[in-house]
Amino acid sequence: MVVSVRPVTPVNVETIIWSISMTLTPPRRTRRRLTALLALPVAGAVGAAALVAPSTAIAAPPLNANCDSSTGDPAISGFLTHEEVERRLQQIERTSNGTVDVDIAGFTNKKRELWTARVGEGDKVVLIQTQIHGNEPHGTMASLNLLQTMGGSSVRAQKMRKAVTVVMIPQLNADGAALDRRQNDQTWAEVVKEFPALAGAPESWNYRSSVGGFDTNRDFNPDLDYTPKPADFPGTSAGTGWYVTPEARTVREVYRGLEKEFGTVDVFVDLHNQGPCYTGQAPDGAGTGDYSTLSISGRFIDDPTAFGDWPKFDYDASRRLNVAVFDALQQRGESPYGTVTLYPQNTNLPGTALGSFALRGSATVLFETTGQTQSAGQREIGQLVKQVEVGLTGIIDGLTDGTMAKIDPNRYESIPERQFIPRD
Ligand SMILES: [Zn+2]
Repeated sequence: MVVSVRPVTPVNVETIIWSISMTLTPPRRTRRRLTALLALPVAGAVGAAALVAPSTAIAAPPLNANCDSSTGDPAISGFLTHEEVERRLQQIERTSNGTVDVDIAGFTNKKRELWTARVGEGDKVVLIQTQIHGNEPHGTMASLNLLQTMGGSSVRAQKMRKAVTVVMIPQLNADGAALDRRQNDQTWAEVVKEFPALAGAPESWNYRSSVGGFDTNRDFNPDLDYTPKPADFPGTSAGTGWYVTPEARTVREVYRGLEKEFGTVDVFVDLHNQGPCYTGQAPDGAGTGDYSTLSISGRFIDDPTAFGDWPKFDYDASRRLNVAVFDALQQRGESPYGTVTLYPQNTNLPGTALGSFALRGSATVLFETTGQTQSAGQREIGQLVKQVEVGLTGIIDGLTDGTMAKIDPNRYESIPERQFIPRD
């Protein structure tokens, strides 16, 4: 059956995109142990606490919580500001003995720096992008932790660097992060000023005039040479984007450079957050089942032939990549980080970075960590950051030791699907 659209807060729109179209699958008849979930290191102790194996359970979300409702803990001071990201990058580069390179790749609309951090010299290249939605911050911290690990002197880090080149763009939507919101900070009038041909064209569908910003993650196009044309506006979620935001253009140029250098960008990772979601109902049909702390996906395009000729599109490579992430987060058959689920598989979003870059041949994985800033704030920050870090490390490990290529892509289909369970 088709789920009706539930009311959502203006900023917590990650769930709207799919809830308007998803079909609710029957409740699963399995129920995993909540006690398998991890302890919650406090914000100030992320670095140290994240290294030890926690032992107690996450508190279940409050009863009024669901995929799209607030849980009332908006504190976000534990997340990194733009200035803190800069300091952390500088510190990692300085202490890496030359293994980590940090550069300015571009600027946000409000002229904040957008950095790339690069580590490793392997033939396989992994591009990691974080916080394209400003209120989805866990991936930024996780990617910087991975950068620090890979830039270190351990034997494992040396092996990783020999096999893999990692390039990351942390906190891409720095303007939105400063405002704690999904959109960037750019008006349609500014776009028209930059692209005068768009004068008189309708505002793009992903522009929110009430806040003066774009959902940057609908501004991508598989054609890296695309230039905005009035006839292509306002567009739809099922169409490609336009590169009207400076943030998306910065990613495009980084991606283009890596494509020139490596031929194909082997892996593209996009780190997001969603509202709290569940894995299914309890066997008796009551309750919500388990709390899912992470959903992942490698599927963003319904029909790759609908957007031109993209012969390098490789869905199986994306499925292997997702299984590698899933496996890294399991421990003896159960994940110590909570239940990892599949993000809804009926999404068709060619205007996202994931969709566009998948068409160009990148294996892609979406991380949707539970808890946007408005739904969960910084609760459970240490555990949720560590979860993303472990998943990312699983990707690098799989490329380093060659096990990624041996994964059966069909195992992707057995990852449990995320459930949306209405409460009365
Ligand atoms: Zn997002």
